[in-house]
Amino acid sequence: MVGRFVHDKLEKGRYKLTSQRAAVLDIMMDNRGRHLSADEVFFEAKTRLPNIGIATVYRTLEKMASLEILHKTVFDQGKYRYELCDENAHHHHHIICLSCNSIIEVQDDLLNSLEKHLEEQGYRIIDHELKLYAYCPDCLQKRRDDSTPDVSS
Ligand SMILES: [Zn+2]
Ligand SMILES: [Zn+2]
Ligand SMILES: [Zn+2]
Repeated sequence: MVGRFVHDKLEKGRYKLTSQRAAVLDIMMDNRGRHLSADEVFFEAKTRLPNIGIATVYRTLEKMASLEILHKTVFDQGKYRYELCDENAHHHHHIICLSCNSIIEVQDDLLNSLEKHLEEQGYRIIDHELKLYAYCPDCLQKRRDDSTPDVSS
């Protein structure tokens, strides 16, 4: 089931959903909130359509990114990861944990005031993208636990 948001973009781009393209889109919709590499999408697609080729998956992901149905971001070693675009105009931001590599989404946006500040200087800001590299609370806790002297021995 394709929502109106996606449907309109397919129509605007005159992009027909073949069974293979639909499978790729389904996978992205089933994995909302996750950030999948092309390889991961391909792996999943193979279970649904055993004959699908990696090139088709790549092309479909790229095309859907250009239609702004998917958003792609480089997270690790120059590899793109894809996710469904947010339906509201603003894209969320990401925190990447340097220890467990988890990708956490941040919905808060404090950049509007920075944009406003720059626009007062004569810039016209079109978009922004923000990635924060951090240690997540779980990893910090684990590290704290590890460094606590073992009192039982
Ligand atoms: Zn972590
Ligand atoms: Zn995301
Ligand atoms: Zn933002």
